[in-house]
Amino acid sequence: MKEVAIIGSGFSGLAAACYAAQAGNKVSVYEKNATIGGRARHFTEQGFMFDMGPSWYWMPDVFEQFFRDFDKSAKDYYQLVQLDPGFQIFFKDHAPLQIPAKLEELYDTFERIEAGSAKQLQLFLKDAAYKYQVGMRDLVHKPGLSFREYMRYDVLKGIMQTHLFRSVSKHVRQYFKDERLVQLMEFPILFLGAMPKDIPALYTLMNYAALSLGTWYPMGGMQKVIAGMATLAEELGVQIHTNAAVEYIHVSDRQAKGIAINGNYIVTDSVIASGDYHHIEQSLLEPQHRNYSEQYWDKKTFAPSCLLYYVGVNKKVKGLQHHNLFFDADFEQHSKEIYETKEWPDDPLFYVCCPSKTDRSVAPDGQENLFILIPIAPGIEDTPEMRERYFPEVLKRIEKHCGDNIAEHIVYNKSYCVKDFVSDYNAYKGNAYGLANTLRQTAVLKPSIKNKQVDNLIYTGQLTVPGPGVPPSLISGKLAAAQISSTTKRHFYETVVR
Ligand SMILES: Cc1cc2nc3c(=O)[nH]c(=O)nc-3n(C[C@H](O)[C@H](O)[C@H](O)COP(=O)(O)OP(=O)(O)OC[C@H]3O[C@@H](n4cnc5c(N)ncnc54)[C@H](O)[C@@H]3O)c2cc1C
Repeated sequence: MKEVAIIGSGFSGLAAACYAAQAGNKVSVYEKNATIGGRARHFTEQGFMFDMGPSWYWMPDVFEQFFRDFDKSAKDYYQLVQLDPGFQIFFKDHAPLQIPAKLEELYDTFERIEAGSAKQLQLFLKDAAYKYQVGMRDLVHKPGLSFREYMRYDVLKGIMQTHLFRSVSKHVRQYFKDERLVQLMEFPILFLGAMPKDIPALYTLMNYAALSLGTWYPMGGMQKVIAGMATLAEELGVQIHTNAAVEYIHVSDRQAKGIAINGNYIVTDSVIASGDYHHIEQSLLEPQHRNYSEQYWDKKTFAPSCLLYYVGVNKKVKGLQHHNLFFDADFEQHSKEIYETKEWPDDPLFYVCCPSKTDRSVAPDGQENLFILIPIAPGIEDTPEMRERYFPEVLKRIEKHCGDNIAEHIVYNKSYCVKDFVSDYNAYKGNAYGLANTLRQTAVLKPSIKNKQVDNLIYTGQLTVPGPGVPPSLISGKLAAAQISSTTKRHFYETVVR
């Protein structure tokens, strides 16, 4: 039985642990923080339970497939409910737009805003469904080690029909004119960490995920998914260690031989690193064992970081849904401030999650749990003044749109920003979502899942294939664990042949 050490207990680390254990390895997960989950950790204060990171549960098929790979189902670990409306958007000069769960109702909503757009939406989603199918079947499950993986006629044909060289922005505008519909259709792309004009139209597969597959919620919060995966991992024999920051990966003769944790040396046969790629390479490996230089990382397009507020309110707030997007400011201007000028935004768009609208367990009775997220440029200077500046501004906008007083009812408020991402997760420039899915950072062009100098060191997580987000992180864990089996076999073969 081989010993596999996994660095980090986020979605990708836990997924990799489950698959590596299923393949017959003895697996240990080492997590630097006191609690597991990585960016999807949670905390409880004054009766409010806050998921610290992800809140949108999209692509339920990917989660289900993960559990099915172990002859389980998501419902063995948590209860999933579909949200209706899936989400709500606030605009500057228009009534809020609610996105119903049923497609028939969504077509009516579109038609009311722009004549003929119901038909256009049908066509758009048919095309997006095709992209989702091609993406899931031919792209995301590939380790991205060589272009040869895609050199099959049917795969290439499928990829070419996904408008790889057209931007999302252009694609959306071919179907819709009304600015509200355009913004709605561009919004899911923001998950991929770049402006819609810089993301290939292939990724409108995200619209299929958002609008056709629906927005779901695991009762008890996203933390239930992490807890379910940890239970599954332990059922498979995985040992999870917290407060266990890996300080060094010892390499000799192209092999990671062991890791140092809290001054102790742990011998291992393979390492799967799910902590941020840049940190693993630059802080845990000697320069000669790294895939990439500091300049390489500096040139990459990173997805945004964010300024977050976890807020407890001692009454129910009118007008909010579970997921609320405040698109009542200039989308272009804010995007430029994130991706081009890289400065604090003047008048940001933001997102408010209010899970207590669905789930009574996440706030005391009659109270509300708010998670407010403002996307910002990674690496921006994070100061107490900036954290203080934006809170009253966003609160005022929420109050205005909801017609309710919140400020006087706040009983808990904690901010979280760039410095916290760096200190909690060793995140490069305090990034929240990893690398953006631009064309130049897709598939083979992403940081490699394999270390090219160290045969048994594999990377996983949102900075390698297939990309940012919870579903891709689950798939990334599976891809990484498969590499462990193949490197073990190849190393054995090479040793025998030599
Ligand atoms: C605020 C926010 C909101 C988001 N919203 C959504 C959403 O709604 N839907 C969605 O799908 N995605 C969302 N995402 C993205 C999603 O959360 C991530 O893509 C995913 O959780 C990344 O998982 P990971 O395993 O790659 O990394 P991580 O979760 O960062 O896990 C890596 C782990 O490695 C640990 N680690 C690092 N260095 C070391 C070391 N030296 N030793 C030991 N351990 C170490 C870290 O502490 C961490 O626990 C969001 C992210 C953030 C931050």
